[in-house]
Parts: sequence; C-alpha cells; structure tokens
Amino acid sequence: MSELEKTLALVSAHALRFRADSADRPHRPALAYSEMLARLGGPTPERAAAMEQVIGELIERAEPGLAAMIGPRFFGWVIGGTEPAGMAADWLASAWGQNTGNNEATPAAAAAESVAARWLLDILGLPSEASVGFVTGATMANFTCLAAARGEVLHRAGWDCEADGLFGAPPIHVVLGEDAHSTVFSALRYLGLGDRRVIRVAVDDNGRMDGDAFVEALAPLTGPIIAIAQAGHIHSGAFDPFNEIAAAAHAKGAWLHVDGAFGLWARAAPDRAHLADGVELADSWATDGHKWLQTPHDCGYAIVRHPGAHVRAMRIAASYLPAGDLAHPADLVPELSRRARGFPTWAMLKTLGRDGVARMVSQHCAQARRMAALLAREPDIEILNDVVLNQVAVRLGSDLPAAQADALTQRTIGRIQREGTCFVAGAHWRGVEIVRVSVIGAATRDEDIDRSADAILAAWRAERGANEAS
Ligand SMILES: *Cc1c(COP(=O)(O)O)cnc(C)c1O
Repeated sequence: MSELEKTLALVSAHALRFRADSADRPHRPALAYSEMLARLGGPTPERAAAMEQVIGELIERAEPGLAAMIGPRFFGWVIGGTEPAGMAADWLASAWGQNTGNNEATPAAAAAESVAARWLLDILGLPSEASVGFVTGATMANFTCLAAARGEVLHRAGWDCEADGLFGAPPIHVVLGEDAHSTVFSALRYLGLGDRRVIRVAVDDNGRMDGDAFVEALAPLTGPIIAIAQAGHIHSGAFDPFNEIAAAAHAKGAWLHVDGAFGLWARAAPDRAHLADGVELADSWATDGHKWLQTPHDCGYAIVRHPGAHVRAMRIAASYLPAGDLAHPADLVPELSRRARGFPTWAMLKTLGRDGVARMVSQHCAQARRMAALLAREPDIEILNDVVLNQVAVRLGSDLPAAQADALTQRTIGRIQREGTCFVAGAHWRGVEIVRVSVIGAATRDEDIDRSADAILAAWRAERGANEAS
C-alpha cells in the first residue's frame, strides 16, 4: 500500500470506530483545553515526518479532547449530528480539493450548490427566485443577508453604500426583538450599524416579539429601515409573529430579515410549519446546514429574495477570474476561496429526502415535549417555555429562593455532565439560571430521552439532597 492508502485506511478505520462508539463514549471530553495544549504541543516541527505517522499521532493525541457531539444523548447548545452521508461528501470535498468560487473553474461544486439551493428553497417553502450563498453558518448568513439589506435600503434612499461607504449616508434604523441572537448583534457590528443604536422591541415570556410593540416602534421612523425577526428562539424555540411584522415592515418600506438558524426548518415538517407562518414574506433569511440538516460543520445558508441586492453586496470581481453573466458562488458570500459546501448539502438532502427531513424535525419536537413532560412531573421543576419546537428551558428548584435555585442549577449541570449519561448545558434567561435541552441530533431515539430524563432527575435529587443535608 502507498503511504496515502495506509493513511486513508487508518482514518477510515478510526472514523468507523469513533462513530460506532459515539453512543457510549463520554459526552464531555476527558481532558481540558490546558491538558490538550500539552498533549498536542511541543516545539515547532523542524523537519518533515511521515504522513501516516503524523495522522496516527493526531488520532491518538486528540481523542481524549473530543466531545461526543454526534451521540444520541447530546443536548448541549444547538448542534446537529454530522450524519454519515454529509461526512462522506465532505471527505470528497477535501479529496477533490475544489476551490468553490467560480462556475467555470469548478462547475461540479458550483452546480451542486445551485441545485441544492433550489431544493432548500422548495423544502423551506421560500421564494424560488431567491439567491442562496453557502457560508460557514448562521452568523455569516446573518452578516451576508444584512449586508444585502444595508445596501438595498440605502440604494432606495439614493445612496450607493458599496461605492461610498457609510460616512454621510442617511442613517439606517435597525429594529429587532429584545431577545435577538447574539450573532445578529455581531453582524450589525461588522456592518458598521452598531449594536447599541438599535431599537429593541419588547418580547413575551417565550422571547417572542410583541407584534403591537413592533408596529408602534416602526410608526415614528422615517428613512431607511432594517427589521430583524427570529424563527426559533435560542432557548424557547419561539417564533416571532411574521405576518404582522412583515405587513408593518413592508408598509414602511423596510427590509425584513429573519434569523432562522434552526427554526426555519419547522417549515419542512407539516405538523410544525404553522409556527413559521408568514416567514416567507421576509426579504432575507439566515439558516444552518450544520444544525437541523445534520451536515458537517461548517455549513450555513444566506438566502436573499432580491438576488441583485445580494450580488451587489458580495460580488468579487477581478481581471484574473472568469466572469460571465451568471452569479458565481463567490458573488453570494464574503469569501473568495472556500470549500465545496454544496456537496454535503446535496448529499444530505438526497439521503433524507423531503419526507426524511420532515420526519426528523417532527420527531425531535415530539421528543422535546416528551422530555419536558418527564421533567415536569417533579413538583419543584418548572418548564419555562411553551415547548413548540425542539428546545426545553428547565428551571430547577422553582420552590426555592432564586439565588439558591440558581446555584443548585449550575451544580446540577456540572453533575449531569460528569455523570455522562447525557450532555446538557445552561443559560441565564428571564433573570434565572436554566438547564437547556436542545433535541436536534439525528441519532436521538425516544429511549435516549427517557434515560436522559432519569439522569437529569437523579442529578437534581442528588444536588438538592446534598444541599439540604449541609
Ligand atoms: C446557532 C444560531 C446562530 C449562529 O449560527 P452559527 O451556525 O453558530 O454561526 C444564530 N442564530 C440562532 C438563532 C442560532 O441558533
């Protein structure tokens, strides 16, 4: 065997073993970052080494620092399961080494994106004329969409922001919900729109924007406006009232952007689609492949109803690049050189199919309700959100003074993670510490929910008991 054959055989054997073990391996890495620095560290390599040996060493050294994020009982943050078809297509993307900027230079990679984009728009029920940029995730999708929004609202006001920048431009009003995701604020910062000069609209107990408050916030505004709504609140999974928001935004000539990193996928499931009713009325949408579609990291989609505004914001022109009339992949994203994200997206959409996506989304939402029901049987546990989607926000010790409940909640999360049956993380929401359960990995079965609920309850009882004994 050649060195390459031996190396790929090693990687393949290891990947198979890692994935087969993922249900049983500890979710939390055995070693911490500082220990991994020592394990992977050493002086700068001065001389060449054999590839097979280096890759073998990487596997051996990295393993204790890996989290079982693809496991069936990993409910931390909002993280998809990197399903095998997407992983295999992603390996091919690397093997083929396609730099996916240009239709003429890499027609297969560019066409896979164009085709997968049409399928995505169809499954998500979004306008077929929209353009889709394949970015690293919803953070860059928010950035890309809001760049198109910024250019377009200024263009309509007679200002060419791509040419003349923001100095001297008519001010843009940015209106969003109190509970907008942190990455929306990042995007606003990157775009020179600032994260402090925004107008924040009140939200209800689920973090859902108040439609009347939105209309009131818009009423006095004149000039360019960008409104930002949300499909799938990071803790509650709630959806903003899009019909109301879109009608008011468009009456004011505003651009409406929707952050739908995972929640937009409710559109794919007939029993959940009503939650996002009216979302199709927006001007742009950010969503992820590496959350509910289960592609490998990284993969997100910047979807814009107005391809002209999209391309105007992102186009990269250079004399040494093939041009042509059609938009190239690089005209829709911030990067010029990048990996071929269309291949894993194409492979995941084809292996799951429309009905497979629908089944998975429905099943995760049912499993979230199952988890909430199992936990809420305890009188001192409260579910803080309406579990409409895949997110469960759990308040432990609802009968205790707040500070004590918060401290016990944090200790319980640590205990759950150490015990290892499942993985959950916490957050601060509505003034209290919560346990967040995100059901979004493809491998999760109902029995995983039951086992995990038992583990969470056992950890909570143990912490509460230890507290009362002391
Ligand atoms: C995850 C998430 C983001 C950020 O997406 P990345 O893929 O991590 O860049 C933005 N908004 C919401 C609501 C999210 O859940």
